[in-house]
Amino acid sequence: MKCPVCKTSYLHSLETEELPQRLVCDTCGGTWIKAFQYWKWLEAHGANLPEKAEQEGTQLPVTDSTQAKLCPECGHLLTRRQVGHGLDFHIDRCGTCGGIWFDKNEWEILKEHNLHDDVHFIFSSAWQHRIVEEQQNKTYEKRIETILGAGDFAKLKDFKQWILRHPKRNTMMAFLSGLDL
Ligand SMILES: [Zn+2]
Ligand SMILES: [Zn+2]
Repeated sequence: MKCPVCKTSYLHSLETEELPQRLVCDTCGGTWIKAFQYWKWLEAHGANLPEKAEQEGTQLPVTDSTQAKLCPECGHLLTRRQVGHGLDFHIDRCGTCGGIWFDKNEWEILKEHNLHDDVHFIFSSAWQHRIVEEQQNKTYEKRIETILGAGDFAKLKDFKQWILRHPKRNTMMAFLSGLDL
C-alpha cells in the first residue's frame, strides 16, 4: 500500500506491541489505521477515557497536509475533518472502508489528549457542529474583549463563572437584569 501523501513511498507495519496496529510511512511520518484494527482495539480498550485538559507547550509539531488524498486501501477520496477541542489540525478518513490517516504526530497528540478513542466521533456531524459553536463563542468573546479591554473582560469572565456556579444564581441573574422577583 502506498502512502496517500507521498504517493510513491510504501506503508509498512509499525513494529510495536502497542495497539491499534498501525501502518507508517518513513518518508512523511504519517500513520494509517485500518478500520477493523481501530474497532478491534477500541473494543478491547474498554470505556472511553475522559478527555484531558489542554497542556500548554507540550505539543509535538504537526504538518497538517491539506492536499486531497486517496485511500491507500480502496482508492476512494478521504474526508478531511477538524479535530477541534483546542487542537488545530485535521484528520482524514475513508468513508468507504473506514481507514484513517494521521499526519506525523497527529495520532500521538490525540493520545496525549485522550482523544484517540474518539476518532470515530470526530467524523460525526454532532462533533463537527460543536467545533463550529466553539469557534463562534471564541469570536464572540474576542469581540467583547476588544470592546471592554483585557482587564475588565477577565474580571467579567471570573464574575460570570462565579455566578454560574453559585447555588443562588437565579436570584443573582434576576437582580442583574433588573427583574422584580
Ligand atoms: Zn508518506
Ligand atoms: Zn478506503
